[in-house]
Amino acid sequence: MSSNPETPLTHPATSDEPLDLAGIGIGPFNLSLAALAHPLSHLRTAFYDQRPAFHWHPGLLIDGATLQVPFLADLVTLADPASPWTFLNYLKTRERLFPFYFAERFHIHRAEYDAYCRWVSESLPSLHFGHQIDAVRWNPERETFEIDYTQLGADGEAEALGRTHARNLVLGIGTTPHIPVPLRPLADAPAVPVIHSADYLDHRDRLLAADHLTVIGAGQSGAEIFLDQLRARPAGREGVHWLARTPAFAPMEYSKLGLEHFTPDYTRYFHGLPERVRDTLVPTQWQLHKAIDHDTLAAIHDELYRRTLHGGWPDATLTPGVSVRTAGRVGTTKVELHLDHTQQGTRSRLTTDAVVLATGYRERRMDTLLAALDPYIRRDAAERPRIDAHHRMVLDPAVTGSLYVQNAETHTHGVGAPDLGLAAWRSATILNNLTDTTPYPLPTRTAFTTFGLPQPPAPHTRTIPTQGSTLVPRH
Ligand SMILES: Cc1cc2nc3c(=O)[nH]c(=O)nc-3n(C[C@H](O)[C@H](O)[C@H](O)COP(=O)(O)OP(=O)(O)OC[C@H]3O[C@@H](n4cnc5c(N)ncnc54)[C@H](O)[C@@H]3O)c2cc1C
Repeated sequence: MSSNPETPLTHPATSDEPLDLAGIGIGPFNLSLAALAHPLSHLRTAFYDQRPAFHWHPGLLIDGATLQVPFLADLVTLADPASPWTFLNYLKTRERLFPFYFAERFHIHRAEYDAYCRWVSESLPSLHFGHQIDAVRWNPERETFEIDYTQLGADGEAEALGRTHARNLVLGIGTTPHIPVPLRPLADAPAVPVIHSADYLDHRDRLLAADHLTVIGAGQSGAEIFLDQLRARPAGREGVHWLARTPAFAPMEYSKLGLEHFTPDYTRYFHGLPERVRDTLVPTQWQLHKAIDHDTLAAIHDELYRRTLHGGWPDATLTPGVSVRTAGRVGTTKVELHLDHTQQGTRSRLTTDAVVLATGYRERRMDTLLAALDPYIRRDAAERPRIDAHHRMVLDPAVTGSLYVQNAETHTHGVGAPDLGLAAWRSATILNNLTDTTPYPLPTRTAFTTFGLPQPPAPHTRTIPTQGSTLVPRH
């Protein structure tokens, strides 16, 4: 297969023949699936995204910010290192392999990952940007999913409505910025900059111009923004507060055995646990994915230390264990945060000129999109869709197609669901299941840790055909 697969774009929705697989959302996870589906020429696939082009978290491509996973966690390598869509092949097409070789960088710049993904997205014929998917329903006559979309112009304005049909579907709609309830009243008044970290770079200069800035949230984004602002503010007049609910500005778990929680072995183990055990486990594992990488913490301490060289301490206050109870405006130019210190049991107020809400993301809601499918969706005790080991939503057998999900299954598959390191493996798992063949043989073992005790083999039972077991017809 050529190393530079430039192929023309075509639109499948015009053909009457249903797609074998339609994908909603083109973030890294569905992009990985599209890249691994590309060589399977018998598969008719199409992926849709409402954005005009691929851009990965543009508001946080802070200079020097890197991925938290090694470059091998690209879109395809961990399933098919010979794929033309590997990060190394991208470097080859850009004649940058030697510089990368000598850079000795295992963790690449976030901006480079964004550029690599965009290169893949501009080369795959199955991708259709500027398409907002509005609704999905099951068409029992055609035994297909019916997908309604709005074609958007470059300005985001609706231009046309359309419908396409697919035997199977994959949801990769990702996450949306989360703003905790007490802080929501702040977010909608323009005078004082109160922004979610997702939009940081669009507001960086305005935030720098604020005499006093408060960063709320001790995840990676909060740390990077605090560091970026600290470095750019005059020594001795930094005027920055960094607040966090967590008891400490804690490092991300990055030990080699700890990282085995991001393996297929752990994902399989977690999926096999009882629902209530899974629900207890996830919150206790916050340091696996919600804390701060060591290098960023070290860089923050270095910068603070550097600012004491000529005497005095920087005007930067870092306080963990604090939650914002309420927040309100003071006049038109300031905000007052009402703070609770959990351990001390004390309260205080902080007046500030600008706020960055580094308060994380939540899985994007799918209930509106899937409203027409609701009667078919099997749910768990917490009313969340049940997701099987193949990343398929468990549906009523009347639905003979499969509905796969990517990065909406933390409740069934664990903390690895949003992890880029599992992208290629999950995509391959989906394609192996969809084609009922094994275009991508996967390792039977991926960790040194043995999660759980060996289980006696399940007693022999007569297999009953399950929902969604229709095979994709061989073309
Ligand atoms: C700043 C940041 C840095 C991160 N860094 C790392 C890292 O280093 N390592 C790691 O493992 N993970 C990282 N993550 C976590 C995770 O990998 C990313 O969030 C990743 O982008 C998730 O990919 P996704 O494909 O699920 O969704 P997204 O990237 O969120 O993409 C979803 C897409 O779906 C589209 N969409 C949604 N609804 C519709 C609709 N109805 N119609 C059409 N299109 C729709 C959206 O427009 C969007 O383009 C990071 C997350 C953030 C926020």
